[in-house]
Amino acid sequence: MNYLTLYQSGELLKRVRTAYARLAACDLCPHDCGVNRLQGERGICGAGAHPAIASANVHNGEEPPISGSRGSGTIFLTGCSLKCRFCQNFPISQMGNGEVITTKVLADRILKLQQRGVHNINLVTPTHYVPQILAALYLAIPQGFRLPLVWNSSGYEKVDTLALLDGVVDVFLPDMKYADNGTAERISSAPGYADINRPAVAEMLRQVGHLKLDDEGLAVKGLIIRHLVLPGGLAETRKTLSWIAGNLGTATHISLMRQYFPAHQAVGMPVLGRKLTDDEYDEALEALEEFDLDNGWVQD
Ligand code: SF4
Repeated sequence: MNYLTLYQSGELLKRVRTAYARLAACDLCPHDCGVNRLQGERGICGAGAHPAIASANVHNGEEPPISGSRGSGTIFLTGCSLKCRFCQNFPISQMGNGEVITTKVLADRILKLQQRGVHNINLVTPTHYVPQILAALYLAIPQGFRLPLVWNSSGYEKVDTLALLDGVVDVFLPDMKYADNGTAERISSAPGYADINRPAVAEMLRQVGHLKLDDEGLAVKGLIIRHLVLPGGLAETRKTLSWIAGNLGTATHISLMRQYFPAHQAVGMPVLGRKLTDDEYDEALEALEEFDLDNGWVQD
């Protein structure tokens, strides 16, 4: 099943309606704010009834199966349900930078990116806009939209919200940021992150399976987990990798990232105020090896 089948059967339109109905007392993400976004109220993510985006461009810096040779059509959505102290994109995620648009304009931006020859459409921080994205897709499909859809998310997501994406999303690209709920609440204002993130990622795997590539090495379907190693062991990388190997399997593709640098409120903070050391990243690489997680990408 894919989004074309869902469109033709009428299921996609049903999903659009179901998703919009949830905005009346918004429970799309684990914060369960209960605000009426249809009437202009806003919750923790800052999102309203209409989508807001900061950019829609060709991006070449993602993992090789996502960026390929022609780039990924990347749309940065405004707002986020996390408030990471170290967020490098905080003007977009936490300060509301971006343009409020209609779902029709969002569909147009998607189609324009497709015309530019990108390999996929990559929705960055999309979860608080599930209804609007489904609606844009519903408008774009009859106009010829056919690219794989990449869901590039924080992984702080509810299984019942992800269910609306079953058969719609081709590639899930979630973070697994923390293994400890307390750390997640302290650093990212995301209570219960570890307990919520793990079933969310398991649901993503159930929907799309392990990563499948085409003959050119491009992602056509599947799961890639991103894990940013944090200084001072704050991400508890070993615990997360152990959980992945034991629960999702060693075939899981992992992008183990080392590009942490202090940004936003992390500047001057103890521990978060410094970069990662080589030893800290080496420890993370050793954990990958220890748990036989051979699929994926690491950074030099
Ligand atoms: S999507 Fe936004 S408004 Fe809705 S529950 Fe999450 S943080 Fe609150």
